[in-house]
Amino acid sequence: MKAAVFWGVEKPVSVRDVKLKDPGPGEVRVRLKAAGLCHSDLSVIDGTIPYPVPVVLGHEGAGIIDALGTGVTSVKEGEAVIVSTLSHCGRCPACEVGKPTQCRNAPSPKDSLPFTVDGKPAFQFANASVFAEATVVREQGAIPIDKRVPFDRACLIGCGIMTGFGAVINRAKVETGATMAVFGVGGIGLNCVQGGVLAGAAKIIAVDVMPQKLEWAKRFGATHTVDSSKEDAVAAVRDLTGGGADYTFEAVGNIAVIKQALEALGPGGALTIVGVPKMGTSFDFVVHGLYQNKAILGCRYGTARPRVDFPMLAELYLNGRLKIDELITQHYRLDDFETAIADLRHGSLARGVFDLEEH
Ligand SMILES: [Zn+2]
Ligand SMILES: [Zn+2]
Repeated sequence: MKAAVFWGVEKPVSVRDVKLKDPGPGEVRVRLKAAGLCHSDLSVIDGTIPYPVPVVLGHEGAGIIDALGTGVTSVKEGEAVIVSTLSHCGRCPACEVGKPTQCRNAPSPKDSLPFTVDGKPAFQFANASVFAEATVVREQGAIPIDKRVPFDRACLIGCGIMTGFGAVINRAKVETGATMAVFGVGGIGLNCVQGGVLAGAAKIIAVDVMPQKLEWAKRFGATHTVDSSKEDAVAAVRDLTGGGADYTFEAVGNIAVIKQALEALGPGGALTIVGVPKMGTSFDFVVHGLYQNKAILGCRYGTARPRVDFPMLAELYLNGRLKIDELITQHYRLDDFETAIADLRHGSLARGVFDLEEH
């Protein structure tokens, strides 16, 4: 079985034959049909997110369940599923109250080694490893959705859409009529924009340095765009919102941009940090700047409740209220891995999708 294996920073990712274990108790095997290329995969390759190696990359995938381990009750063979990257127990107080991203008993994804490469165990990335023809995940990581959503669309719900949309809807809880600005409108930021549209935000300001991405943002519902390579983004957002936005979202993972997104807030405003800077990064801010009830929010995986949110997002797509087709810039075969990574690096992708079906 083919998979994209990462061997360490500055070593090429190899697309090669691997072995996959059978699903154990409480686990299922997913025959993968499509997988999206997310910036976090690139962050592992670049060393921004440290991960033990060898590891099979990819964490935004969809496919069909084709084998069940013992004791699996929540999913059936033949069901179309999206892989959730969330590790949660489903039984602790946080899980019980519907906050699985705050689970305190979550098994570490780094304890999962379902693959074998050259006789050596290989790690699973983010409970997923979907740059492969199949993967084995815990049953709570396989979320059934409506089969009518094509797999190359469905897979994007598993990270990019959930993360961006969820930051707006689940975490910031943007209200109808609010003003918001999204700093960085790649795959995640575009989904913050469309989260804002569905929340009924009155003004949605997209900020980026790439004109192409600002064009995409307009298509996704941004009411205003700011090219921060040409103008002062903070001044522009403050100007457009009469003194600062109610909500800002940082979807880059860059300290200078996080500071801009903080400074662009108005009274009572909240910044949600969605981007992931290099591990261990800190930033300083003027404490007095939080005067007037401002807030800085962290956000994990769109504060997802996968079994609630994934089917809901699929439904919104089927009803023409969530844009997914427009997110896909390019399709690739797994063998084109290096090309896809190069395209993502150059910023020419909203989302690139690997078709995994015919390998
Ligand atoms: Zn991702
Ligand atoms: Zn839990």
